Amino acid sequence: MASKASEKVTPTSSEPKLTKAQLKKFKELLDEKRMEIIRKAQQTLDEEMTLDANDLPDEMDLASSEYLQSFTFRLRGREKVFLDKIQKALEKLESGNFGTCDDCGERISAKRLEARPETTLCIRCKEDQERVEKDFG
Ligand SMILES: [Zn+2]
Repeated sequence: MASKASEKVTPTSSEPKLTKAQLKKFKELLDEKRMEIIRKAQQTLDEEMTLDANDLPDEMDLASSEYLQSFTFRLRGREKVFLDKIQKALEKLESGNFGTCDDCGERISAKRLEARPETTLCIRCKEDQERVEKDFG
């Protein structure tokens, strides 16, 4: 018979389980953050729409608008990543796995979640990941 034990994440750390009130608070935080990003992204789009393509900029303006363009592009990339993270965290909330590390399955501290409710990794795994990223950079 196949075991289904692996389906449920069993936290092994000493972090206390999140209460329903805490989970509710994190959901509100995540919803708020998501709205904020969408609002900002819309604002960025609105600003781009008002740019007149026939109004040719001089060299200085061109340089700065290029800079602005790449900045906006980067920002949008980051916003997208952030939105994905929030979406994933909300899914984890739905499935009851919120607050557990995706990597090692241990509980993420409430303090860390309060600072970054969208996080899906405990501080140890996050540090490991950053070290790997640095090695490749
Ligand atoms: Zn972990």
